[in-house]
Amino acid sequence: MNQPTKKPHILFLFSDTGGGHRSASEAIIEALQLEFGDQYTTEMVDIFKDYAPPPLKMLPAIYPRIVKAPRVWELGYHLSDGPMRASALSAGAWPYVRGSFRRLIEEHPSDLIVSVHSLANEPILRALGADRPPFITVVTDLVTTHATWYHRQADLCLVPTEAARRRALKLDLKPEQVKVVGLPVAERFCNPSMDSSAVRAKLGWPQDLPVAVLVGGGDGMGPLRETALAISEAKLPLALAIITGRNKTLQSRLEATDFSMPTFVYGFVREMPDFMAAADVLVTKAGPGTISEALNAGLPMILYSHLPGQESGNIPYVVTEGAGIWAPRTEEIVRTLKNWLEHPDQHASAVAACKRMARPDAARQIARELVKMVESSRETVQ
Ligand code: UDP
Repeated sequence: MNQPTKKPHILFLFSDTGGGHRSASEAIIEALQLEFGDQYTTEMVDIFKDYAPPPLKMLPAIYPRIVKAPRVWELGYHLSDGPMRASALSAGAWPYVRGSFRRLIEEHPSDLIVSVHSLANEPILRALGADRPPFITVVTDLVTTHATWYHRQADLCLVPTEAARRRALKLDLKPEQVKVVGLPVAERFCNPSMDSSAVRAKLGWPQDLPVAVLVGGGDGMGPLRETALAISEAKLPLALAIITGRNKTLQSRLEATDFSMPTFVYGFVREMPDFMAAADVLVTKAGPGTISEALNAGLPMILYSHLPGQESGNIPYVVTEGAGIWAPRTEEIVRTLKNWLEHPDQHASAVAACKRMARPDAARQIARELVKMVESSRETVQ
C-alpha cells in the first residue's frame, strides 16, 4: 500500500514580545492557506516562552515592564546595534541557550524555518549547523531595523521597506539575498468582509458619530489613559474605542472611568480588522504591525508614542507621506482630532495617503517566496 506523502512543514519562530511578531506569523500562515490550500503544514514556536532557559523564558511576560524605561531600552538598543556587537552578545549568550535551541530544532523537524523575530536568527542558525533546512528571515520592523535582523547565512531576507533593504546591504547581505515585500498583515485588513456600518452594528458602536480607536500595541503601552481622559475632557463629537491589549490593570481602570462621550473599553481583541474597518481615526503607539494594518485599512493615524530604537523611523515614515500625525502630547492629539473633524478634506487626504502606502499583497508575496524556497530545496534533496 502506498504511504500518504508527508506534506512539507514550515516552522515559524516568533515571540510575544509585543503583539507584532505573532500577527505577522499568523498573516503569513493565512496567506499560505489562501494561496496554496492545505499543501503545507505550519507551526509557530515562541522562542523565549517555549524554549529559552530562565530568566530569558520570562521575556514575553516582562517585556512591557522593560520598555517602560524607554531611555534604558534605547541605550541597550544602540549599544548592541552593530554587526560586531550583536555577534559578541550572541556569542556570550550561546553557552547558556545552546541546549534549549538545539532541543527546539530536534523537537520541530521542518522543511523550512521562518524567523519573524530578530533575536532568533543568530542562535537558531548556530544551533542548526551546516546540514539544515532553508532559513528565511521576515523583518517585522519597518524602517529603523536592528543589526540582529540581518544574518549573512540566512537564505533569504524579506524586508518591508527600502530603508530596511539598504540596512541589510550595509550589513553585507548580498543583493540577491534581500527582497522588499512589505510587512505582512491579515487579509481582512485589506479586504474587509463587512462594510463599516455592519461592523458598527455588530460592535454596538453608534452609527452617527465618528469613532476614534485608541490602542497601544499588544501590551497596551504608552499614555493610553491620559490620552482618553484628555479627549473626553475636550468633549469632541466622537465615540471612543479603547483597546488595552494584554494590559488588564489598564482595562479595569478605564472601565471604572466616566467619559463624556460614548466609550467602549476592550482588553486584547482578536477582531482588530473589524475595529479598523469601522473606525475613522486610530490613535496609537508607532508599532510597525499596527501602522501597516492601518495603512491597509485606509485609517489615518495619530502616533502618540514610540519605542526609541526600532520604532523611531516609523514616525517620519507615516508623517512624511501624510498618512498620519506625530502628536506626543495630549493637547496635540486633541487638536489633531478637532482639526480632522472640522476639515473632512484633510482627513480624506490622509485616508488617500494610507491607501497609497498600503501593501495588501505583502503576506501573499511572502507565502509565495516561502513555497519557492521549500520546493527548490526539496528538488535539490531528491
Ligand atoms: N493587537 C491585537 N489585539 C489587541 C492589541 C493589538 O490583535 O488587542 C495586534 C495588532 O493588531 C498588531 C499587534 O497586535 O498586529 C501589535 O503589533 P505592533 O507591531 O503594532 O506593536 P507591538 O505590540 O509588537 O509593540
